[in-house]
Amino acid sequence: MTERIDCVVIGAGVVGLAIARRMAQRGLETILIEGENAIGTGTSSRNSEVIHAGIYYPKGSLKARFCVEGKKMLYRFCNERGIVANNCGKFIVATTDAQAETLKGIVAKARANGVDDLQWMTAAEAQAKEPALFCVAALNSPSTGIVDSHGFMLGLQGDFEEAGGMLAFNSPLAGAVCRDDGITIATGGEGEMELTAGIVINSAGLFAQDLARKFDGLPRETIPPTYYCKGNYYSLAGRSPFSRLIYPVPEAAGLGVHLTIDLGGQARFGPDVEWIDHIDYTVDPKRSELFYAEIRKYWPGVPDSGLQPGYCGIRPKLGPASAPAADFVVQGPEVHGVKGLVNLYGIESPGLTSSMAIAEYVNELV
Ligand SMILES: Cc1cc2nc3c(=O)[nH]c(=O)nc-3n(C[C@H](O)[C@H](O)[C@H](O)COP(=O)(O)OP(=O)(O)OC[C@H]3O[C@@H](n4cnc5c(N)ncnc54)[C@H](O)[C@@H]3O)c2cc1C
Repeated sequence: MTERIDCVVIGAGVVGLAIARRMAQRGLETILIEGENAIGTGTSSRNSEVIHAGIYYPKGSLKARFCVEGKKMLYRFCNERGIVANNCGKFIVATTDAQAETLKGIVAKARANGVDDLQWMTAAEAQAKEPALFCVAALNSPSTGIVDSHGFMLGLQGDFEEAGGMLAFNSPLAGAVCRDDGITIATGGEGEMELTAGIVINSAGLFAQDLARKFDGLPRETIPPTYYCKGNYYSLAGRSPFSRLIYPVPEAAGLGVHLTIDLGGQARFGPDVEWIDHIDYTVDPKRSELFYAEIRKYWPGVPDSGLQPGYCGIRPKLGPASAPAADFVVQGPEVHGVKGLVNLYGIESPGLTSSMAIAEYVNELV
């Protein structure tokens, strides 16, 4: 006989933590299993820590909906708990006339998503606020900000445990069997266990598809393909020359080499776009040349040799470089037919901003 529990969430990144918190607060006996020995060691520690406004995503997409809802929930959560969430704002900058035209399209897209606070700025207006900036026009996004992502995750963990949730570290999922009366999961690692749960949430980030393949009874054709797209960061010594985030007009697989400011006031640049076949977190110092070229377009004064290789994160893409950007995929029983199972795939940016809204959605789904 295996032990029975109401809910198992797999993966203690920001999304798994937000979901586990919601499940425990709803009154379900919930265990959050994590393969590593700490929370948030995956993509949740390897991103820009930006609270996105919800500007770029197609109207009606889960990304647009969750980002706009999640942003409000995230600011509220952090404000209530004294977690740093700095509403510093951002400029999206056009450095050519053609890009200025693209900016107009971005305003329309944002409005369709319910983001109606963007302000058009002439070059002079933008440069009055950010003297180091070069642009031909800019959009000001006042609701964008940065968050202490670890403080946020600790806050989610605190709520989860306070609501009676249990966190099991060093417990990678080894296998699962889906039956009508529940899903039996087995973990490997230090604390081997077997549990049967009515609800199982696969929130394993980059490994969600690998994990899904371990579920005996889950139709294989419902598991999307996996592609990895690395984003490298470079940091700049000293304090940031800009007081808000500076983003170029977005490119195909990412938002362009943008400037974000960490909570210590230091500038970092990235992420770039590097499609890779295997997970590998090394940052190639040679890529800095590419960075200088991109940054100079909006900050001509970037000092030569000022950039140091920082860290990188990997986007869990659902299609190759040639495919249009995919939406978040949250699959419940209505898609794959397995009672009680929810699989989350392709939770790339804006997953940090969206995490609490994703948790609400999953809560409704189960
Ligand atoms: C370069 C980059 C920049 C980004 N910038 C932003 C940003 O500025 N703003 C924003 O909103 N979003 C951003 N994102 C997106 C955001 O970081 C992610 O969407 C979010 O962190 C995903 O969280 P997660 O919990 O789904 O995944 P993860 O954080 O990867 O967590 C998954 C967890 O599952 C665990 N796991 C895996 N396999 C198993 C197993 N078999 N058993 C048990 N546990 C397992 C892992 O150890 C890990 O802890 C960015 C992403 C990238 C790549």
